[in-house]
Amino acid sequence: MAHILVTGGAGYVGAVVTARLQQAGHSATVVDNLSTGHRAAVSGARLVEADLEDDAALEGIFSAESFAGVVHFASHCRVEESIVHPVKYFRDNVGGSLKLFDAMLRHGVKALVFSSSCAVYGEPSQVPITEDQPLDPINPYGESKLFVERILKAYQRAYGMRSVSLRYFNACGAAVDGRLGESHHPETHLIPLVLRAAADGDYALTLFGNDYPTPDGTCVRDYIHVEDLATAHLAALKRLLEGMGREVYNIGTGNGLSVRQIIESAQRVTGSRVRHTVGPRRDGDPPVLVADASRAKSALGWTPRYSDPATILGTAWNWFRNPRY
Ligand code: UDP
Repeated sequence: MAHILVTGGAGYVGAVVTARLQQAGHSATVVDNLSTGHRAAVSGARLVEADLEDDAALEGIFSAESFAGVVHFASHCRVEESIVHPVKYFRDNVGGSLKLFDAMLRHGVKALVFSSSCAVYGEPSQVPITEDQPLDPINPYGESKLFVERILKAYQRAYGMRSVSLRYFNACGAAVDGRLGESHHPETHLIPLVLRAAADGDYALTLFGNDYPTPDGTCVRDYIHVEDLATAHLAALKRLLEGMGREVYNIGTGNGLSVRQIIESAQRVTGSRVRHTVGPRRDGDPPVLVADASRAKSALGWTPRYSDPATILGTAWNWFRNPRY
């Protein structure tokens, strides 16, 4: 069993992965600046409150402990914000990753699982999207993830750093044990906002555009449950610990759901009406993003188990009513 550094392990996906790593018998240290993460989301692992750009803090972490690998989540992840404040995305997502990789190389840690995103594809020329499709992000968030993937490619060749980049589609749902979930301030993601509208009759969701070239006019996304994301990270880490790398996988279900279908599922699960109004399209939103995840399924032996709409909305609703932080 291995000792792993998790950056951003107090965040939504990072906390679930940290918990599942520990359940699988690994031990973890989390580094998180708590800008969006939650102290209460980390249990059973040492939490170092620090920024990845803080060289001294990173040096302290890598000098004090010996890691078999790193799982790297820490990053800003709001598409719209990245368009307005690109500096945050390039300075922190790319700059922070460079500092992390420097520290890893100084200490001979050469195995990394990287949280990438389907945003690296931009507007895909074909759906479902395979890993070989053109990489052409349409916002600074996607650019920042692609830069880091490219850095990893060069670092493998030059320094032998092995990595697995997981290009997530839409992370959603909450831990099945109800202990961890999504808690963003402000909340911008569809599913928590749909549930807010179900719970609060005075709140209406704004549906961003109903004139997309999709069956019901609303955007189609591939929603992947956070527990399934966690399984993918564990499988990726296993490959790295066995000496494999550099690999890139789409992590999605292959099934698209429209915004309207999410609203309908939420109404079924909650038994309440989801009030909504139709607003303009949101900048940077492609009409359809659906994964071809066959590479992850065959190479990682990974299968999504929790990503059906009823389980996604059911676990998210459970968390919405009983958030722990
Ligand atoms: N969306 C929406 N209203 C909202 C938030 C999101 O209609 O208040 C739509 C958005 O346009 C996108 C989908 O829901 O098509 C998922 O958006 P989210 O922000 O959850 O994830 P993203 O796709 O940006 O990663």
